[in-house]
Amino acid sequence: MKDFIPYGKQNIDQNDINEVVNVLSSDYLTQGPLIVSFENQICEKLSPKYAVAVNSATSALHIACMALDIHENDTVWTSPNSFVASANCALYCGAKVDFVDIDLETGLISITKLTEKLEEASVLNKLPSLIIPVHLCGSSCDMEAIKKLSLKYGFKIIEDASHAIGGKYNGTYVGACEYSDITVFSFHPVKIITTGEGGVACTNNKDYADKLYKLRSHGIEKNHKNFYEPTEKPWVYEQQSLGYNYRMTDIHAALGISQLKKLDQFVEERNEIIRRYKELFFDIDFLSFLEVKNNVYSSFHLAVIVLDDKAVNFHKEIFLFLRESGIGVQIHYIPIHCQPYYKKLGFNRGDFPNAENYADRAISIPIYPGLTDQNQKYIYNKFKEVQKYYKIF
Ligand SMILES: *Cc1c(COP(=O)(O)O)cnc(C)c1O
Repeated sequence: MKDFIPYGKQNIDQNDINEVVNVLSSDYLTQGPLIVSFENQICEKLSPKYAVAVNSATSALHIACMALDIHENDTVWTSPNSFVASANCALYCGAKVDFVDIDLETGLISITKLTEKLEEASVLNKLPSLIIPVHLCGSSCDMEAIKKLSLKYGFKIIEDASHAIGGKYNGTYVGACEYSDITVFSFHPVKIITTGEGGVACTNNKDYADKLYKLRSHGIEKNHKNFYEPTEKPWVYEQQSLGYNYRMTDIHAALGISQLKKLDQFVEERNEIIRRYKELFFDIDFLSFLEVKNNVYSSFHLAVIVLDDKAVNFHKEIFLFLRESGIGVQIHYIPIHCQPYYKKLGFNRGDFPNAENYADRAISIPIYPGLTDQNQKYIYNKFKEVQKYYKIF
């Protein structure tokens, strides 16, 4: 049987394995010292003031919305070209969701469309309280522009940087929260570094951080100094809000600490893989790679090719051909507003044409540390076959 090359996967070495095995014979499997250590190391590396580790990016997005006080009366805008979790987090809080269409060249939220939509919403008195830009593929959105608009229109910002740990914007690591209230990363195995399942919310705001710490653990406060009802009894803890059990375990944190050491190396390798793809694909003229702006260093969670007008009608055929050739291609993303659940909320195909157009053309091809030159050549050769087979010239 042919080897299957997935579109993405984890890279685990013996050090990772040793660190995880070591926790198992330590005193704590959860709520131990490794969580704090992982959070501190994220702060040292990416330079936000606070990092709150949780059991997934989805959980992080949920409590990030709660920390920003998102409720029924609020509207949250995000990109339709994302994983459903980017929008679901607002629905968890009872808020309304709306989307801002994307730029076809980058796949990212369009600043022009955002500006227009904000102007309209301002007239109608329907401004969003929160915008969640999504750093698709690990390429940061234009955060300076979004921050400027937030100052004019008074919305808050959560960066869904699930793809983007290790990426940079204006030379600074995504996660520094220079242009946002909170930044969220995912540690799912297909993402840049992994903890198995896991996520983190980063912020520079102490008030948000305190809320996030509490919300990930049932809304419980254990520090007597912060009690609503002071007491001398040392065993008392207070539930002060309705939180969840979204905690990360020390087993996961041990893996995270070990993986974080390799972050820059992984991202460099991903950039090298993209460079090599572009070099190999120079004579394939029915597709292009997504554009990355000059002030952005992408972590390249995904390698996306976009079919041109000659090839767009063969999207499904090309996808199937590549899959049958053992290449784990994928589409990122089916626009969120086209999901049945969102259609029930009133959205329709046609609402965000660029995201739909993009989804009809985009194909994610394999990228992960450990993908070999031989793998890349094999993938290139299959694209050459596509060109001949479908007579796309
Ligand atoms: C993976 C992903 C999430 C969810 O991450 P989990 O850690 O699996 O919960 C959210 N948003 C985007 C854009 C993602 O790619």
